[in-house]
This record gives sequence, structure tokens and C-alpha cells, in this order.
Amino acid sequence: MVRKAPAIVILGKGSLATARKIQQVYPDALIHGLAGRVEGVDLSYQAFGQTLRQLYQQDTPIIALCAAGIVIRTLADLLLEKGAEPPVLAVAEDGSAVVPLLGGLGGVNVMAREIGAGLGVAAAITTSGELRFGTCLLNPPSGYALADLELGKRFVSDLLAGEPVRIEGAAPWLAQAQLPHDEHAQRSIRVGCEAREPSANELLIHPRCVLVAISATLPEPAQAVRAALQAAKIAEPALACLLAADSEMSSPALRDAAAELGVALRFAPAAESVVALAAQALPQLLPPQAMGEGIAIAVASQPIDVQSIGRARGRLAVIGLGPGAAEFMVPAVKAELARANDVLGYETYVRMAGPFRDDQVLHCTDNREEMQRARHAFELAVQGRSVVVVSSGDPGVFAMAAAVLEALHESDDPAWHAVDLEILPGVSASLATAAQAGAPLGHDFCVLSLSDNLKPWSIIEKRLDLAAQADLALAFYNPISRARPWQLGRAMDIVRQHRTAQTPVVLGRDIGRPGQTLRAITLGELTPELVDMRTMVLVGSSTTCVFPRPEGGQWVYTPRWYPEQG
Ligand code: SAH
Repeated sequence: MVRKAPAIVILGKGSLATARKIQQVYPDALIHGLAGRVEGVDLSYQAFGQTLRQLYQQDTPIIALCAAGIVIRTLADLLLEKGAEPPVLAVAEDGSAVVPLLGGLGGVNVMAREIGAGLGVAAAITTSGELRFGTCLLNPPSGYALADLELGKRFVSDLLAGEPVRIEGAAPWLAQAQLPHDEHAQRSIRVGCEAREPSANELLIHPRCVLVAISATLPEPAQAVRAALQAAKIAEPALACLLAADSEMSSPALRDAAAELGVALRFAPAAESVVALAAQALPQLLPPQAMGEGIAIAVASQPIDVQSIGRARGRLAVIGLGPGAAEFMVPAVKAELARANDVLGYETYVRMAGPFRDDQVLHCTDNREEMQRARHAFELAVQGRSVVVVSSGDPGVFAMAAAVLEALHESDDPAWHAVDLEILPGVSASLATAAQAGAPLGHDFCVLSLSDNLKPWSIIEKRLDLAAQADLALAFYNPISRARPWQLGRAMDIVRQHRTAQTPVVLGRDIGRPGQTLRAITLGELTPELVDMRTMVLVGSSTTCVFPRPEGGQWVYTPRWYPEQG
């Protein structure tokens, strides 16, 4: 299990120095600061409670630099809902105290000690087992899985009551623990991958040292894996990963089976049999054993490092950042950015998508190299990496999604077609601008790019003419640029043939970004000087109306109904 990067949450400037020291302990952690109260943090948030609850629900370890009571009260409502939880710690603003609060099984005490060491103070460990034995027996290190938590709790309380214990199997992490050892003890900590009847006298820990090689042609693969493990008398938690041939990379059945079993799915070049496939992917394994047609089990002597087995199916996500502000980015996009190994895009947008961790590779390119960027994304993804291509707004609106699909369509490389490709939407500039102005696109509307870089100007003129004639509200992307100075004026001349000078127009510039401006004017007042390439132009239909807002400015909206045509 790979731990997610912790979030260091601070409320004011006073805690920044302590936060930075903790960041030295966890270089991939991000400092979240309350907007308006503290500058120079990695991320700004608006509401403390909402931020903390969201982090908790996303399973992010939380290091909150504030009173323990505040953290407890904030998360209280969520505590009963959840079995597994992320580590949550409160740290005194001045770094003088580290209090692990939640997530005992998620390693909170380990984190408390690490942070304590970084700050030069002792961690406030209160867990009895941990205090007595120097380790949490119920929280074995990654690569090992506890067989049964409830039995485990009883076992630990027996030891706390004075029962001695012996260790069977290899438990290297317990070498430093202060356990009441006795070779003849009735109770034992048993480390092994075989399936056993659970017993109260035994703390059973399974090393994840089993690999199952499998063919996608097997019906019901998850069930087949379970049956094979059972036949081989191996406990299911000992399963480290599934392995299949490269040629089966896009099999949904295999993907679902791995998800159901909760293990990684890895791929290696096809071999003459699944036994040979397993043997070649991890040569130091004991010879794999065939468990029937299309399935083989291999057991290593130690937990398997899944990353070293073949490679993962590559992933490519084309994401939309929304107009700019982080609140308008959809959660799926945030999650995708967090899992990315590589991020590609126009430099301004890649910056907007940050901050990034040191292990994430950024590939910033010029705005015009879209096809090259799309192909580069596939080249990275076929290596098994998780790749993100960023667009502003929505990736399907005059942006990278179509370029990525075009590159894939043109390619006959099966590896490219096997990549796990997903397009994640964002709030497009026309919608973000419309929302701020009211509802100018509240009825039928037409979206056009005024750029003639990739289409002939004559087509733009024709579409403008027909859309204006059809009395659609209009949203213009790419309205003007230094290389295209006259097009907007020409476009307005066409629109004016069908609309009155009083038609409402909304100009949104840098919406959702620092220094944003929003203006409501009329078609008669619209001149190209008011517009630049960072502006969204919305032109109303014959029914669009405006009325004043109490705080100044105007509401603009297009009613949902349309008058009967006489
Ligand atoms: N995929 C983007 C659009 C890319 S085209 C989206 O869905 O929003 C680039 C054009 O979008 C710019 O010329 C401008 O007209 C508009 N635009 C993009 N972001 C904007 C913003 N934050 N505010 C105003 N207009 C924006």
C-alpha cells in the first residue's frame, strides 16, 4: 500500500515555519493555507472545515497545525461512517507538541514519531500496544496484511495482559519490537501465505508474496483466481498482483477482476503459457504452478515489489482545468492530477494545474504544437506511465481532447490503442462567463471559435450568418489575436445584419483568474479594442434582457421560452 502524500493544513502565518519543517520530513506534502490569512503556501483554501472533511474523505493523511479540539469537532460527524481512515494529527503551531488523533491502523503513530523527530519533540503516543511493544502489531508494514482485525485486537490485549508470544515465519520488522518472547508460548505471531483457520491464539499476518498469472480468455477471472488460491491453500490477502500478457492489456474482464480482488494488474510480453509468463516476469520466484487452463500461481519467498513485475497498463487522461480558480475544477480532475507521473500542456495551463511533486515530470510546450503533444502523450503512456494532458476550461471545447483522439485514430500501433484513455470534463469559459453574468445562454445558443487557423474564414462567415439569422445567442472563443486583428470586426458586421444595436453583449476576461473582469455592454458599443485573446464574447439573442443589480452592474439573461412566431 502506497501512502498518499499528507496535507499540512495551517490557519495563519504563525504556523508557516513549523509547516515548512514538517514538509522537510514529507517532501511530497502540500501546505494548505487559509486564503487571505497566509501567503506563500502550496494551496489556498476558503473554508477550514470543508477542506479538512474533504481531505479526510479522500483518504489523505492530515497534519493540522491547530488545537486538537478543533480537528476533533470538525471531523466528528464523519468518524462513525468509516472503517478505515487516514492518519490525522494535530501539531502545535510552534512545533512543541505532536498529537496523533486518528488512523492507528493507517500508521498515525509512525507519522507522529517521524514528525516528532523532525521537530525535535516527543510524539504524544497513547496507544497501549504501541507504548509497550514499540510497534503497532495490527499495522504491519507495506507488503504484509493482517488476516483478521477483530481477532488481532483480542490477541494484542492478551499480550498486554502479560501473555508471552513466539514468532513463526519471517517478520523482519518485529526484530526491534519489545515483545514478551517465549519459545514455548501458547500464543504466536504467524507470518505466512497459507490459508488457515483463524484462531485467537494466533496473530496471522500474510506476506503479499503471491503472483497469479492469468489469461483474459478465462471466464469469471476473479472467481477463477479465488478458486485457484483456495486449491493451492493460499490465503487471499497474500495475493500481491495479477499478471497477464501485453496483448490482453485492454481487457475489461481483467481490469474488473484486479479491482474486485484489490490488487495491481501488471503486464509482460506474451509467453507460450501462463506458467512461462510468470516465470519470465519474476525469475527469482520458485517455479510457478499451473492451476488449470490459463491460470498459474507463483509464490515468492518475500513480499513482491509489484512495481518490479512487468509494467502497468498506461493511462492517458485529457483533463479540463475549468476557467482558472481551483474551486471550479471537478474532483475527478484533481484526483487525476494527483496520480499523474507526467503532465503535458501549454506552459500557462500546466502552471495553473500545479503545484506538483518532485517526482512528477512536466512537459511544457508551445500552444501550437498540439498534435506533437498528443503523440508524445501516447509515447509516455505506453511505457506504463500515468499521463495527463491539460487544457483550460473543457478539453473537448477547442482544446486537446480532439487532438489526442485524432492522433490515436491516425495510429495503427496496438500499444497506443491499449492505453487506458479517458477524457475528464471541465467548466468551459463560455459557461463560467455566462454564470457570472447571469444566464445569457439560458436558451438555445451557438458556440463558435473565430480563429481561422484551422478552418477557412469563409466557413466562419457562413456559420455566423446562419447562427445570427436563427436568432441563437452566440459564444465566441478565440475572438481576436495579434495575428488575427480584423476578424472580430468583420464577424460583428455580419451579426449586426440580424441583431439590433441594443442586443446585450457580455465580455468576460480572465474569468476565474486573478484580475478577472466582466462587462455587460450592447452590440452597438462593442469594438475590437474592448476584446483580446483572453476574452470570452457572449452576444445575446433577440430575447436576451438586462436589469440592474443592487451592488452595481447588471444581470443578463435569456428567458427559457420563446415568443410565438406570427
Ligand atoms: N478549452 C477552453 C477554450 C480554449 S480556446 C475552454 O473550454 O474554455 C481559448 C479561448 O477561450 C480564449 O481565446 C478565450 O476566448 C476563451 N477563454 C479561455 N479561458 C478563459 C477565461 N478564463 N476567461 C475568458 N475567456 C477565456
